Amino acid sequence: MKVVEHIQSSKSTLFSFEILPPHARESIQILFNNIAPLMEFKPKFIDVTYHREEFILKKREGGLLEQKSIRKRPGTVAICAALMHKYGIDTVPHIICGGFTREETEYALIDLNYLGIENVLALRGDSIKGQNDFSPTVGGHAFASDLVEQLSAMNKGHYIDEDLENAIPTNFCIGVAGYPEKHFEAANLKTDLKWLKHKVDCGANYVVTQMFFDNKKYFEFLEKCKADGVHIPIIPGLKPLTSKKQVHMLASRFHIDIPEALTDAIEKCKDDKQVRQVGIEWAIAQSKELIQHKAPCLHFYSMGKSNAIQEIASALY
Ligand code: FAD
Repeated sequence: MKVVEHIQSSKSTLFSFEILPPHARESIQILFNNIAPLMEFKPKFIDVTYHREEFILKKREGGLLEQKSIRKRPGTVAICAALMHKYGIDTVPHIICGGFTREETEYALIDLNYLGIENVLALRGDSIKGQNDFSPTVGGHAFASDLVEQLSAMNKGHYIDEDLENAIPTNFCIGVAGYPEKHFEAANLKTDLKWLKHKVDCGANYVVTQMFFDNKKYFEFLEKCKADGVHIPIIPGLKPLTSKKQVHMLASRFHIDIPEALTDAIEKCKDDKQVRQVGIEWAIAQSKELIQHKAPCLHFYSMGKSNAIQEIASALY
């Protein structure tokens, strides 16, 4: 089933989460063990992130350095298929522009269609580690909206080879990213919202937000989206803070604010056990308010760990 159909057919706020593929060569059982405790809360869909290649330097004989391209977490599509097979649950693979030509993207989407995967989160992706700016792959897309356009075209039976006759239309539900605190490259929120609206005009069916710790920012974002003509479901993304180290890591990696009240509370903690408790309570309070405001779904970023989400979900569902 499509994400928007799950939302439309539910009277209450849904539960879902996002996982990372395991490190290459790790057993998929580790992933299954990690998410098993979350399955009792009946998530309607699970997102699986996509991780593009990284470039590393390897020392060779004679001190020469060789640049190698590696992917630390491959397997997004296979994991989606494995989760569908094991749990009978809908999955949402993240598909990014970076690293793919349009043709390669089309082949990946054809695979998804054959597997019966009906949802895709269409993203641009970040720059390659070590590079400052995102550069599109030659023959690939520059923005998520271009990828949304390709998906929408395939949903109408239009593939890259325009001479294809009797091409089967795909039937993807298309999600895109939204940023209540603006995307870090955007000059201001207004411009960022203009491009979000463009993604919707290209065919996006729903939005998932970047994580935020202050609900006010999400509520204001909803108002601004509405004013700018974005009327599709906007799913809030949430992440429980579980260690002191994460305060700076999340703020700098995801370009988000951590509210003063939260940093003050964390400052007073003696150890990470206490920080974890503060983070969980904060996420529960955030979630309760979002449920009260009839958020379509609470979408948790697991970043490879599910224990804290399990505690939050058991307080809510
Ligand atoms: P876009 O929508 O293309 O926007 C990128 C920037 O360009 C923005 O500043 C926007 O304002 C601007 N812009 C957009 N369109 C245009 C245009 N036509 N002309 C000029 N400017 C434009 N990354 C991964 O690598 N893998 C993942 O699995 C992943 N999952 C994510 C899940 C969620 C819910 C979120 C919020 C982010 C995720 N990301 C992931 C990170 C994401 O790839 C980055 O935030 C990336 O920098 C932007 O992606 P986007 O799809 O929002 O890009």
